[in-house]
Amino acid sequence: MTSRISLKSAAKINLYLEITGNRPDGYHDLVMVLQSIDLCDRLDIRKIGTDEIQVTCNNPEVPCDRTNLVYKAAALMQSVYPDIGGIEIAIDKQIPMGAGLAGGSSNAAAVLVGIDRLWELGLTQSQLCDFAAQLGSDIPFCVTGGTALATGRGEVLSPLPDLKDLVLVICKPRQIAIATAWAYQTFRSQGLLATSQVKNQNLSSQMVAAIASGGESTAVKLSRFLYNDLERVVLPAYPELHALKNRLLEQECLGAMMSGSGSTIFAIAADLDRAQKIAEAIQTDDIDVWVGKSLVRSIFDV
Ligand code: ATP
Repeated sequence: MTSRISLKSAAKINLYLEITGNRPDGYHDLVMVLQSIDLCDRLDIRKIGTDEIQVTCNNPEVPCDRTNLVYKAAALMQSVYPDIGGIEIAIDKQIPMGAGLAGGSSNAAAVLVGIDRLWELGLTQSQLCDFAAQLGSDIPFCVTGGTALATGRGEVLSPLPDLKDLVLVICKPRQIAIATAWAYQTFRSQGLLATSQVKNQNLSSQMVAAIASGGESTAVKLSRFLYNDLERVVLPAYPELHALKNRLLEQECLGAMMSGSGSTIFAIAADLDRAQKIAEAIQTDDIDVWVGKSLVRSIFDV
């Protein structure tokens, strides 16, 4: 039996995020369209002799204690499968934090998948998603990846047809990290649900239909239905992000939108050439920019 495994865990963007209700448990009812993208962290997972969980990361800003989602994922698996013993996890972090790209969530998903494979537990994807849902709302999607409609807290997933060649420009202002909890709490405290901009418009169904339509013009079609309710709280609080989105829209892109609770703003481009031009126009010392593509999964062997 092998004693180590190396996996890549992919970031995600939200092509669509609508808050449809306040839940009594403090969470929100959501309708989201999630998409894996080729901006990835690497995780080296190794069996060790002791019972400990050891986490290291190349980025000193990432907490390596029990608060790290990979630690929580490993601890959950240890509690259910006490025989698995100690685990060492080294994270090579490329996905920016506080970015709305679910970097931590995708790391946790990779640890669940990695432990399943290393210890040959034989878990189904549905069982892995059940564990993932105990750790966080975005984590089941990070187990399955690709393109999916997410409802409930975000953990109820329906796969959508793969978006194979969506070309993206991903922009993350270096100095702005946004706490997801703050964005949702502010949305709730400002009573923004009552002034929904999209209620009864069936915008999410139109987004899903655009994705299902397939063909070369899919990117053009879906770009019309990009939507994110959290822009209503984040963009007024961070005028620099609003300005960044407007700068992207001034470029020849198909659409631009904030991902999750920000601070990433992404643009969809017609092709790689155009994406490179947009990236060059947007890049400054304060903004990290990646040109990337959609992925059909989120966890990969290195
Ligand atoms: P989301 O899109 O899920 O809101 P995010 O892109 O805003 O996520 P993450 O990279 O998931 O941000 O990190 C948010 C916070 O979670 C970090 O500030 C960090 O303290 C904590 N964290 C816990 N585990 C990890 C991890 N493995 N990688 C990065 N951050 C982690």
